[in-house]
Amino acid sequence: MYFLLFSDRNETGGRSPNSGIQVVPPIVTSSTFVQETPGEHTGFRYSRYGNPTRNSLDECLASLDDAKYAITFSAGVGALTAIMASFESGDNLISSKKFFAGDFIIWDTFKKLGVETKYIDFEDLNNLKEALDEKTRMVWIESPMNPSLTVLDIKAIADIVHLKSKAFLVVDNTFLTPYFQRPLELGADIVAYSISKFIGGHSDIVGGSIVTNNQELYEKIKASQIALGVIPSPFTCYLINRSLRTLSVRMEKHFENSYAVAKFLESHPKIEKVNHPALKSHQGFGIATKQSYGHSGIFSFYIKNGTLEMSKTFFKSLKLVIVGESLGGTETLASFPWVMSHSTMPEDERIKAGVTESLIRISIGLEDVRDVIEDLGYALEAI
Ligand SMILES: *Cc1c(COP(=O)(O)O)cnc(C)c1O
Repeated sequence: MYFLLFSDRNETGGRSPNSGIQVVPPIVTSSTFVQETPGEHTGFRYSRYGNPTRNSLDECLASLDDAKYAITFSAGVGALTAIMASFESGDNLISSKKFFAGDFIIWDTFKKLGVETKYIDFEDLNNLKEALDEKTRMVWIESPMNPSLTVLDIKAIADIVHLKSKAFLVVDNTFLTPYFQRPLELGADIVAYSISKFIGGHSDIVGGSIVTNNQELYEKIKASQIALGVIPSPFTCYLINRSLRTLSVRMEKHFENSYAVAKFLESHPKIEKVNHPALKSHQGFGIATKQSYGHSGIFSFYIKNGTLEMSKTFFKSLKLVIVGESLGGTETLASFPWVMSHSTMPEDERIKAGVTESLIRISIGLEDVRDVIEDLGYALEAI
Protein backbone atom coordinates (compact mmCIF):
# COMPACT_ATOMS: atom_id res chain seq x y z
CA MET A 1 0.00 0.00 0.00
CA TYR A 2 1.03 3.55 -0.55
CA PHE A 3 1.60 5.53 2.59
CA LEU A 4 1.82 9.24 2.99
CA LEU A 5 4.67 10.88 4.77
CA PHE A 6 4.13 14.53 4.33
CA SER A 7 2.97 15.65 7.73
CA ASP A 8 6.60 15.86 8.84
CA ARG A 9 7.50 18.29 6.03
CA ASN A 10 8.23 21.86 6.95
CA GLU A 11 5.66 23.59 4.82
CA THR A 12 6.23 26.93 6.50
CA GLY A 13 9.70 27.22 4.98
CA GLY A 14 10.09 30.47 3.11
CA ARG A 15 6.73 31.75 4.19
CA SER A 16 7.91 35.29 4.69
CA PRO A 17 11.05 37.31 4.03
CA ASN A 18 10.15 39.39 7.09
CA SER A 19 9.19 36.84 9.70
CA GLY A 20 6.64 38.12 12.14
CA ILE A 21 5.29 40.83 9.86
CA GLN A 22 3.34 39.46 6.91
CA VAL A 23 1.83 36.00 6.59
CA VAL A 24 2.07 36.04 2.80
CA PRO A 25 5.37 36.83 1.05
CA PRO A 26 4.89 40.21 -0.65
CA ILE A 27 5.62 40.82 -4.33
CA VAL A 28 8.77 42.92 -4.40
CA THR A 29 9.05 44.42 -7.85
CA SER A 30 12.12 46.59 -7.32
CA SER A 31 14.87 45.72 -9.78
CA THR A 32 17.55 47.32 -7.64
CA PHE A 33 18.27 47.75 -3.93
CA VAL A 34 19.80 50.51 -1.82
CA GLN A 35 23.44 50.09 -0.86
CA GLU A 36 24.55 51.87 2.35
CA THR A 37 28.02 52.32 0.93
CA PRO A 38 29.06 51.26 -2.59
CA GLY A 39 29.57 47.49 -2.70
CA GLU A 40 27.95 46.88 0.69
CA HIS A 41 24.43 45.52 0.52
CA THR A 42 22.14 43.53 2.79
CA GLY A 43 21.86 40.49 0.50
CA PHE A 44 20.10 42.08 -2.45
CA ARG A 45 21.76 44.15 -5.15
CA TYR A 46 19.91 43.64 -8.45
CA SER A 47 16.92 41.38 -9.10
CA ARG A 48 18.59 39.10 -11.65
CA TYR A 49 20.88 37.97 -8.78
CA GLY A 50 18.13 37.59 -6.23
CA ASN A 51 14.91 39.12 -5.04
CA PRO A 52 13.06 38.79 -1.69
CA THR A 53 9.97 37.20 -3.29
CA ARG A 54 12.09 34.71 -5.27
CA ASN A 55 14.38 33.94 -2.32
CA SER A 56 11.47 33.11 -0.01
CA LEU A 57 10.14 30.77 -2.70
CA ASP A 58 13.57 29.11 -3.10
CA GLU A 59 13.62 28.52 0.64
CA CYS A 60 10.16 26.96 0.60
CA LEU A 61 10.94 24.71 -2.38
CA ALA A 62 14.15 23.50 -0.68
CA SER A 63 12.25 22.62 2.49
CA LEU A 64 9.69 20.51 0.60
CA ASP A 65 12.47 18.21 -0.61
CA ASP A 66 14.41 18.48 2.66
CA ALA A 67 17.18 20.01 0.57
CA LYS A 68 19.78 22.64 1.42
CA TYR A 69 19.40 24.60 -1.80
CA ALA A 70 16.76 25.42 -4.38
CA ILE A 71 16.79 27.65 -7.46
CA THR A 72 13.63 28.78 -9.25
CA PHE A 73 13.75 29.38 -13.02
CA SER A 74 11.65 30.98 -15.73
CA ALA A 75 10.71 27.50 -17.06
CA GLY A 76 11.48 23.83 -16.50
CA VAL A 77 13.70 23.90 -19.57
CA GLY A 78 15.43 26.99 -18.13
CA ALA A 79 16.66 24.80 -15.27
CA LEU A 80 18.02 22.30 -17.77
CA THR A 81 19.74 25.04 -19.80
CA ALA A 82 21.41 26.43 -16.66
CA ILE A 83 22.70 22.97 -15.70
CA MET A 84 24.05 22.39 -19.21
CA ALA A 85 25.77 25.79 -19.32
CA SER A 86 28.32 24.54 -16.79
CA PHE A 87 29.44 21.75 -19.16
CA GLU A 88 32.53 21.82 -21.37
CA SER A 89 33.02 20.72 -24.93
CA GLY A 90 33.88 16.99 -24.87
CA ASP A 91 31.64 16.21 -21.89
CA ASN A 92 28.73 13.87 -22.43
CA LEU A 93 25.44 13.08 -20.74
CA ILE A 94 23.18 10.05 -20.66
CA SER A 95 19.43 10.16 -21.10
CA SER A 96 16.62 8.44 -22.99
CA LYS A 97 14.37 9.09 -25.98
CA LYS A 98 11.53 7.89 -23.79
CA PHE A 99 11.52 11.02 -21.63
CA PHE A 100 9.92 14.47 -22.00
CA ALA A 101 10.34 15.39 -25.66
CA GLY A 102 11.29 19.05 -24.99
CA ASP A 103 14.59 17.95 -23.40
CA PHE A 104 15.92 16.77 -26.77
CA ILE A 105 15.82 20.28 -28.25
CA ILE A 106 18.23 21.53 -25.58
CA TRP A 107 20.51 18.54 -25.94
CA ASP A 108 20.59 19.03 -29.71
CA THR A 109 21.52 22.67 -29.16
CA PHE A 110 24.40 21.72 -26.88
CA LYS A 111 25.54 19.06 -29.35
CA LYS A 112 26.60 21.90 -31.62
CA LEU A 113 28.85 23.08 -28.77
CA GLY A 114 30.47 19.67 -28.41
CA VAL A 115 28.39 18.09 -25.63
CA GLU A 116 27.14 14.69 -26.73
CA THR A 117 23.98 13.00 -25.43
CA LYS A 118 23.93 9.20 -25.25
CA TYR A 119 20.37 7.94 -25.48
CA ILE A 120 19.78 4.60 -23.80
CA ASP A 121 16.98 2.39 -22.49
CA PHE A 122 17.01 2.54 -18.71
CA GLU A 123 14.76 -0.52 -18.36
CA ASP A 124 17.94 -2.62 -18.67
CA LEU A 125 20.53 -1.11 -16.33
CA ASN A 126 23.37 -2.86 -18.18
CA ASN A 127 22.86 -0.18 -20.84
CA LEU A 128 23.69 2.46 -18.23
CA LYS A 129 26.79 0.60 -17.03
CA GLU A 130 28.06 0.42 -20.62
CA ALA A 131 27.30 4.03 -21.49
CA LEU A 132 29.02 5.67 -18.49
CA ASP A 133 32.58 6.84 -19.15
CA GLU A 134 35.09 9.27 -17.69
CA LYS A 135 33.62 12.14 -19.71
CA THR A 136 30.05 11.59 -18.49
CA ARG A 137 29.01 14.65 -16.47
CA MET A 138 25.34 13.96 -15.99
CA VAL A 139 22.73 11.22 -16.07
CA TRP A 140 19.25 12.65 -16.55
CA ILE A 141 16.21 10.49 -15.82
CA GLU A 142 12.50 10.76 -15.33
CA SER A 143 10.39 8.42 -13.21
CA PRO A 144 7.59 7.76 -13.94
CA MET A 145 8.49 8.34 -17.60
CA ASN A 146 6.56 10.48 -20.05
CA PRO A 147 4.20 9.36 -21.58
CA SER A 148 4.52 5.61 -20.84
CA LEU A 149 4.52 6.06 -17.03
CA THR A 150 7.22 3.38 -16.84
CA VAL A 151 8.76 3.46 -13.37
CA LEU A 152 12.55 3.32 -13.00
CA ASP A 153 14.37 2.19 -9.87
CA ILE A 154 15.94 5.51 -8.84
CA LYS A 155 18.10 4.10 -6.05
CA ALA A 156 19.53 1.35 -8.27
CA ILE A 157 20.36 3.95 -10.94
CA ALA A 158 21.95 6.31 -8.38
CA ASP A 159 24.12 3.47 -7.04
CA ILE A 160 25.41 2.59 -10.52
CA VAL A 161 26.07 6.21 -11.48
CA HIS A 162 28.05 6.90 -8.29
CA LEU A 163 29.94 3.62 -8.30
CA LYS A 164 30.95 3.74 -11.95
CA SER A 165 31.51 7.43 -12.64
CA LYS A 166 31.93 10.96 -11.36
CA ALA A 167 28.68 12.01 -13.01
CA PHE A 168 25.78 13.49 -11.10
CA LEU A 169 22.27 12.13 -11.31
CA VAL A 170 19.33 14.41 -12.04
CA VAL A 171 15.77 13.16 -11.56
CA ASP A 172 12.98 15.10 -13.26
CA ASN A 173 10.26 14.81 -10.60
CA THR A 174 7.65 16.91 -12.41
CA PHE A 175 5.03 14.15 -12.47
CA LEU A 176 5.02 13.41 -8.74
CA THR A 177 6.21 16.61 -6.99
CA PRO A 178 7.97 16.43 -3.59
CA TYR A 179 4.61 15.47 -2.11
CA PHE A 180 4.76 11.98 -3.61
CA GLN A 181 8.46 11.40 -4.33
CA ARG A 182 11.70 12.81 -2.96
CA PRO A 183 14.56 11.54 -5.13
CA LEU A 184 17.33 13.13 -3.01
CA GLU A 185 16.47 10.50 -0.38
CA LEU A 186 16.99 7.82 -3.04
CA GLY A 187 20.47 9.04 -4.01
CA ALA A 188 19.81 11.67 -6.70
CA ASP A 189 22.17 14.66 -6.71
CA ILE A 190 19.69 17.11 -8.22
CA VAL A 191 15.91 17.03 -8.53
CA ALA A 192 14.42 19.09 -11.36
CA TYR A 193 10.85 20.31 -11.75
CA SER A 194 8.68 21.93 -14.31
CA ILE A 195 6.63 24.10 -11.96
CA SER A 196 4.27 24.73 -14.89
CA LYS A 197 2.61 21.37 -14.09
CA PHE A 198 1.43 20.04 -10.70
CA ILE A 199 3.43 22.40 -8.46
CA GLY A 200 1.91 25.45 -10.15
CA GLY A 201 -1.26 23.44 -10.48
CA HIS A 202 -3.59 25.98 -12.10
CA SER A 203 -2.36 26.14 -15.71
CA ASP A 204 -1.40 29.78 -15.24
CA ILE A 205 2.34 29.65 -14.56
CA VAL A 206 5.42 28.68 -16.55
CA GLY A 207 8.34 28.02 -14.22
CA GLY A 208 10.96 25.51 -13.18
CA SER A 209 13.21 24.67 -10.27
CA ILE A 210 16.01 22.49 -9.03
CA VAL A 211 16.86 21.35 -5.52
CA THR A 212 20.14 19.85 -4.32
CA ASN A 213 22.28 19.27 -1.24
CA ASN A 214 25.49 19.63 -3.23
CA GLN A 215 26.98 23.08 -2.61
CA GLU A 216 29.36 22.97 -5.58
CA LEU A 217 26.60 22.07 -8.05
CA TYR A 218 24.32 24.67 -6.51
CA GLU A 219 26.88 27.45 -6.89
CA LYS A 220 27.65 26.53 -10.50
CA ILE A 221 24.00 26.36 -11.52
CA LYS A 222 23.17 29.56 -9.64
CA ALA A 223 26.03 31.34 -11.44
CA SER A 224 24.68 30.01 -14.78
CA GLN A 225 21.21 31.24 -13.94
CA ILE A 226 22.48 34.75 -13.18
CA ALA A 227 24.65 34.82 -16.32
CA LEU A 228 21.90 33.48 -18.62
CA GLY A 229 19.07 35.46 -17.04
CA VAL A 230 16.69 32.49 -16.80
CA ILE A 231 14.85 33.96 -13.83
CA PRO A 232 11.14 34.03 -12.97
CA SER A 233 9.34 37.33 -12.40
CA PRO A 234 8.40 38.33 -8.82
CA PHE A 235 4.73 37.92 -9.75
CA THR A 236 5.34 34.34 -10.94
CA CYS A 237 7.19 33.61 -7.69
CA TYR A 238 4.25 34.99 -5.73
CA LEU A 239 1.85 32.70 -7.62
CA ILE A 240 4.07 29.66 -7.11
CA ASN A 241 4.32 30.44 -3.39
CA ARG A 242 0.53 30.60 -3.33
CA SER A 243 0.23 27.28 -5.18
CA LEU A 244 2.47 25.58 -2.64
CA ARG A 245 0.00 26.35 0.14
CA THR A 246 -2.44 23.87 -1.43
CA LEU A 247 0.01 21.36 -2.89
CA SER A 248 -0.82 18.61 -0.39
CA VAL A 249 -4.61 18.78 -0.78
CA ARG A 250 -4.40 19.09 -4.55
CA MET A 251 -2.06 16.11 -4.88
CA GLU A 252 -4.25 13.91 -2.66
CA LYS A 253 -7.25 14.72 -4.84
CA HIS A 254 -5.35 14.27 -8.13
CA PHE A 255 -4.32 10.82 -6.91
CA GLU A 256 -7.77 9.82 -5.72
CA ASN A 257 -9.40 11.00 -8.97
CA SER A 258 -6.80 9.53 -11.32
CA TYR A 259 -6.95 6.17 -9.57
CA ALA A 260 -10.75 6.09 -9.91
CA VAL A 261 -10.54 6.95 -13.63
CA ALA A 262 -7.74 4.43 -14.21
CA LYS A 263 -9.83 1.68 -12.56
CA PHE A 264 -12.82 2.64 -14.74
CA LEU A 265 -10.75 2.54 -17.93
CA GLU A 266 -9.01 -0.71 -16.96
CA SER A 267 -12.34 -2.50 -16.87
CA HIS A 268 -13.69 -0.84 -20.04
CA PRO A 269 -14.05 -3.19 -23.06
CA LYS A 270 -12.69 -0.59 -25.52
CA ILE A 271 -9.44 -0.12 -23.59
CA GLU A 272 -6.38 -2.26 -24.27
CA LYS A 273 -4.13 -1.18 -21.42
CA VAL A 274 -3.87 1.51 -18.75
CA ASN A 275 -0.45 2.86 -17.70
CA HIS A 276 -0.98 4.00 -14.11
CA PRO A 277 1.69 3.17 -11.49
CA ALA A 278 -0.88 2.57 -8.73
CA LEU A 279 -2.55 -0.24 -10.70
CA LYS A 280 -1.35 -3.72 -9.79
CA SER A 281 -1.20 -4.54 -13.52
CA HIS A 282 1.40 -1.80 -14.14
CA GLN A 283 5.04 -2.63 -14.86
CA GLY A 284 6.28 -0.35 -12.09
CA PHE A 285 3.74 -1.05 -9.35
CA GLY A 286 6.27 -2.77 -7.08
CA ILE A 287 9.04 -0.16 -7.36
CA ALA A 288 6.56 2.72 -7.23
CA THR A 289 5.18 1.44 -3.95
CA LYS A 290 8.72 1.35 -2.51
CA GLN A 291 10.10 4.65 -3.79
CA SER A 292 7.09 6.97 -3.91
CA TYR A 293 4.24 7.82 -1.61
CA GLY A 294 1.46 7.91 -4.19
CA HIS A 295 0.71 9.02 -7.72
CA SER A 296 -0.54 12.26 -9.26
CA GLY A 297 -3.18 12.88 -11.92
CA ILE A 298 -1.14 11.90 -14.96
CA PHE A 299 -1.37 8.58 -16.79
CA SER A 300 -1.92 7.14 -20.25
CA PHE A 301 -3.91 4.39 -21.94
CA TYR A 302 -4.29 2.57 -25.25
CA ILE A 303 -7.56 2.19 -27.14
CA LYS A 304 -8.15 -1.47 -28.07
CA ASN A 305 -7.28 -2.13 -31.74
CA GLY A 306 -7.05 1.65 -31.98
CA THR A 307 -6.51 3.55 -35.21
CA LEU A 308 -5.77 7.21 -35.90
CA GLU A 309 -9.44 7.71 -36.86
CA MET A 310 -10.70 6.17 -33.62
CA SER A 311 -8.39 8.34 -31.51
CA LYS A 312 -9.53 11.44 -33.39
CA THR A 313 -13.19 10.55 -32.82
CA PHE A 314 -12.46 10.03 -29.12
CA PHE A 315 -10.96 13.52 -28.79
CA LYS A 316 -13.75 15.12 -30.82
CA SER A 317 -16.38 13.53 -28.55
CA LEU A 318 -15.02 14.92 -25.29
CA LYS A 319 -17.18 17.63 -23.74
CA LEU A 320 -15.86 18.26 -20.23
CA VAL A 321 -12.31 17.05 -20.70
CA ILE A 322 -10.16 19.67 -22.41
CA VAL A 323 -7.82 18.73 -25.24
CA GLY A 324 -4.47 20.44 -24.96
CA GLU A 325 -0.76 20.30 -24.12
CA SER A 326 0.58 20.26 -20.57
CA LEU A 327 -0.70 18.63 -17.39
CA GLY A 328 -1.15 19.16 -13.68
CA GLY A 329 -3.93 21.76 -13.67
CA THR A 330 -7.26 21.73 -11.87
CA GLU A 331 -9.01 20.75 -15.11
CA THR A 332 -8.76 17.33 -16.74
CA LEU A 333 -6.66 17.62 -19.87
CA ALA A 334 -6.20 14.97 -22.56
CA SER A 335 -3.41 14.98 -25.10
CA PHE A 336 -2.48 12.91 -28.11
CA PRO A 337 1.31 12.47 -28.09
CA TRP A 338 1.33 10.97 -31.62
CA VAL A 339 0.33 14.30 -33.20
CA MET A 340 1.18 16.69 -30.34
CA SER A 341 4.24 16.42 -28.03
CA HIS A 342 5.99 13.67 -30.04
CA SER A 343 5.03 14.61 -33.60
CA THR A 344 8.53 15.72 -34.59
CA MET A 345 10.08 12.41 -33.51
CA PRO A 346 10.69 9.83 -36.29
CA GLU A 347 7.92 7.24 -36.40
CA ASP A 348 10.07 4.26 -35.38
CA GLU A 349 11.42 6.14 -32.35
CA ARG A 350 7.90 7.12 -31.35
CA ILE A 351 6.74 3.52 -31.48
CA LYS A 352 9.80 2.38 -29.49
CA ALA A 353 8.84 4.93 -26.83
CA GLY A 354 5.33 3.43 -26.72
CA VAL A 355 3.84 6.41 -28.54
CA THR A 356 1.36 4.94 -31.02
CA GLU A 357 -1.76 6.13 -32.83
CA SER A 358 -3.88 4.69 -30.03
CA LEU A 359 -2.02 6.15 -27.02
CA ILE A 360 -3.88 8.82 -25.09
CA ARG A 361 -2.30 10.77 -22.24
CA ILE A 362 -4.54 12.27 -19.61
CA SER A 363 -4.04 14.55 -16.63
CA ILE A 364 -6.92 14.18 -14.23
CA GLY A 365 -7.95 17.40 -12.52
CA LEU A 366 -9.85 18.22 -9.37
CA GLU A 367 -13.40 17.95 -10.72
CA ASP A 368 -16.04 15.64 -9.28
CA VAL A 369 -14.57 12.46 -10.69
CA ARG A 370 -18.00 11.10 -11.66
CA ASP A 371 -18.27 13.86 -14.27
CA VAL A 372 -14.88 12.96 -15.74
CA ILE A 373 -15.76 9.26 -15.90
CA GLU A 374 -19.07 10.04 -17.57
CA ASP A 375 -17.40 12.23 -20.20
CA LEU A 376 -14.74 9.61 -20.99
CA GLY A 377 -17.44 6.94 -21.12
CA TYR A 378 -19.43 8.87 -23.73
CA ALA A 379 -16.31 9.52 -25.83
CA LEU A 380 -15.45 5.81 -25.78
CA GLU A 381 -19.00 4.91 -26.81
CA ALA A 382 -18.59 7.22 -29.82
CA ILE A 383 -15.64 5.32 -31.32
C1 LIG B 1 6.69 20.24 -19.09
C2 LIG B 1 7.82 19.40 -18.70
C3 LIG B 1 9.14 19.89 -18.72
C4 LIG B 1 9.49 21.27 -19.24
O1 LIG B 1 9.01 22.27 -18.44
P1 LIG B 1 8.59 23.76 -18.95
O2 LIG B 1 8.11 24.38 -17.70
O3 LIG B 1 7.54 23.59 -19.98
O4 LIG B 1 9.81 24.39 -19.49
C5 LIG B 1 10.14 19.05 -18.29
N1 LIG B 1 9.89 17.79 -17.86
C6 LIG B 1 8.64 17.29 -17.83
C7 LIG B 1 8.42 15.90 -17.35
C8 LIG B 1 7.57 18.07 -18.25
O5 LIG B 1 6.33 17.55 -18.23
